[in-house]
Order: sequence, then structure tokens, then C-alpha cells
Amino acid sequence: MSDVTKADADARDAADPLAGYRERFVIDDGDLIYLDGNSLGRLPRAAVDEIGRAVREEWGGELIRGWRHWIDLGRQVGDVLAGPVLDAAPGEVVLSDSTSVNLYKLAGAALSARPDRRVVVVDEDNFPTDQYLMQALAAERGLTLRTVAADLDEGLSTDAVTAALDEDVALVVLSHVAYRSGAVADLPAITRRAHEVGALVLWDLCHSAGAVPVPLRAASVDLAVGCTYKYLNGGPGAPAFLYVRSDLQPVLRQPIAGWFGQRDQFAMAGGYDPEPTIDRFLVGTPPVLGQYGALAGARIAAEAGIEPVHAKGMALTSYAVELYDAWLAELGFTLASPRDATRRGAHVTFHHPEAWRICQAWQDAGVLPDFRTPDRLRIGLAPLYTRFADVYEAFDRLRRITADGTWRSYPAERSRVT
Ligand SMILES: *Cc1c(COP(=O)(O)O)cnc(C)c1O
Repeated sequence: MSDVTKADADARDAADPLAGYRERFVIDDGDLIYLDGNSLGRLPRAAVDEIGRAVREEWGGELIRGWRHWIDLGRQVGDVLAGPVLDAAPGEVVLSDSTSVNLYKLAGAALSARPDRRVVVVDEDNFPTDQYLMQALAAERGLTLRTVAADLDEGLSTDAVTAALDEDVALVVLSHVAYRSGAVADLPAITRRAHEVGALVLWDLCHSAGAVPVPLRAASVDLAVGCTYKYLNGGPGAPAFLYVRSDLQPVLRQPIAGWFGQRDQFAMAGGYDPEPTIDRFLVGTPPVLGQYGALAGARIAAEAGIEPVHAKGMALTSYAVELYDAWLAELGFTLASPRDATRRGAHVTFHHPEAWRICQAWQDAGVLPDFRTPDRLRIGLAPLYTRFADVYEAFDRLRRITADGTWRSYPAERSRVT
């Protein structure tokens, strides 16, 4: 292990090819260390300009005529993300609604395309919204949910998913990067196995997009959804993206038939006849200002490229694990993420029996992490703006407040939003 010194952290920053991207974000919060970019990414300077300009010139000046810029904005952002960030082709990705709503739309479309099959495969550690939506869809359509056990720290095993697959399975819905541990599922292998039994696969990319490569095209993934407000820095409530492989677009029908999915929308025809393209997965009027935020964030991610971002994410989480080994293991923390960097996204998680009280003390010491029930500190190391020196400083504060018992003065009861 290298020396655990501030100078070593600084040397890593000096050698970081992405170091310059930090300036692309508004960062004027003094000595606050932000380790929650995997819940809400920082504000890109370009988003301030882009949204400000759209408000003044387009909303304020062009009024209804602004739609000439807005009507294809979701497609435009989708195309920015498609190649460099998501390994998809132009026209396979579009912004629309929230991740939750897109899960419903794409899962519904997939189930309608496999009417003779009765089973949906999910895993027990998927994000709650994924679980609730698949429970509801299964109940609505009288289908069976087959739940695969997952290790909360090590992630999903390909063998366990494979064991749940047979010719009754219509759809498999999984997260690529686990929201709790950051563990990466083997997307190509699982997709291949699902295809072998004739099932469709829907991947949730919320913690992957802008953090790790997502081989959608290489693995011939059917369907995917993801949010733009985490590693893609699109802003609070920025619209989500959805991906549908091009050959599936004309044959899938999603359950929320709205006028933005309609062929020749402004013909205002009476019967629903959806576009043959990705546009058929749209529903209604999009949040235009949120789309401009997503555009600004997507452009930065595309410019940086996913390979360098992934390399830095692995280096940052590995550095966090080094500091854990040196400082935190002896203070009662244990690693709650895979130790192998290639099996992690850009966040890393630790258990501690007093995690919630320590989390509050850590926040008062100027660090913003995430707490995840029941005993986890989740640390997002967004590669575009997090420095090795930030990790050093944050962990130094953490070991101090843990060792000196500062956390003991904080309540054990949880607040509503963690
Ligand atoms: C953040 C996240 C979501 C969020 O869904 P919303 O509809 O944007 O609230 C969904 N799935 C996963 C895996 C997430 O991490």
C-alpha cells in the first residue's frame, strides 16, 4: 500500500487526466466535501447558462414558437448520450418522464410482447421503485414474480439469475450497478442467458450511466432506463432516459398511449397510431427546462468519455478502500462493496453498527455522504469533480469523529430523507 498522506492524495490529483473537469461545475461551498453525486450530481456551469438562456430567450421571447427548439430536445439529449456514454445507436435513446414511469412503460411493452409467458424475474435487492412497479405489473396482469436472491454487498450472481430462467420467463428486470453496494452485474452474460430462453431484459442504469461503460449494443440489450440527475449531472428532477433496441421499436407497444407518441402528432387524429420510432415511448409534454439541464450534463459526460470516467471512478473507490484498510477497519467499519474495483461502480459502501449517528456527525464535520438502511454509509465518488484530496480529507474527518466519540451525541432515530 502506498503511504497514506495528503501529499500522496495531491500527487494522484496532479496525475489525473480528468482533473480539469472540476472547473466545469459550480463549486463554491468552502470546505464542504460532497460525496453524494450518485444521488444528485453537482451543477454544471453550462446548465446555468443553458437554462438561463432558454428561460429568457425561448420561454420569455419566443413563447409558443419555442417549440421549434423543444419538440426534439429529448431525442437530441438521447443522441448525445447514445454513443459515448451508453454504447447505443442514434435514435435508440430518448429522454422522457421519470425512471419509475419508464420502467412501467418498457416493462409493460415487453410483457405485452410475450403474452404466452407468465413469469417476471427480478432480484431481491433491486431499487424499491423497480420492485414496487414489477409487483404492481405482475398483479395487474396475473403474472408470477420470481425473485432471485442477491448478496447485498457482493451483488448479483449470474448463476443465480440463470437458475431462475426458463421458457416461462417473459421479462428480466435488474439493476446494472446495485444502488446499495455499487456491485456491477454481468450485463452481457445475463442478457445472453435471458435471450437463450427467449426472454426480454430490462436494465436499470441509474447508477451506471456516466459512471461505468454500459455495453448496450455489444450485448444486444433489449431495453434500459436510467436517470440523468445522478452521475449525468442533469439537475434535480431532470427527466430520465429510456433505451429501446432499434429492431424492437416498431414492434413494442407501451401501455401509456399519449399524444407525444402519436404518429404525426399535430394531425390531432382520433385513433392512437404510434410512431414507429423511439418516439412511441413518449407520453406527454416534457419538462423543457429540465431537459436543458440534462443536455448540459450529458454533453460534459460525452466529452469526457466513459472509459476515462470509469478509470477514475475505479481509482477513487480503490483509494477509499485503501484508506478504509489503513484507518477505518480498526474503528468498527467493514466494507459493504466488492473489493475488486472492476466489480464496483463509482460508489463504495461501508457498514458500521452506528452508521446513522456517525453519518450525522460526519455531515456536521462538513462531509455529505448518503446513509442507507440499516447500517451503511454510502460514498459516491463522482469522477468528474471529486478529487483524491477530497477522499483523503473526508476519511480523515470520519476517522477523527469516530475515534473521539463525537457521534455519540447524535440521535439514533432516522429523519425522513436520508
Ligand atoms: C435513483 C434510482 C431510481 C430513481 O427513480 P426515479 O423515478 O427517478 O425516482 C430508480 N432506480 C434506481 C436503481 C435508482 O438508483
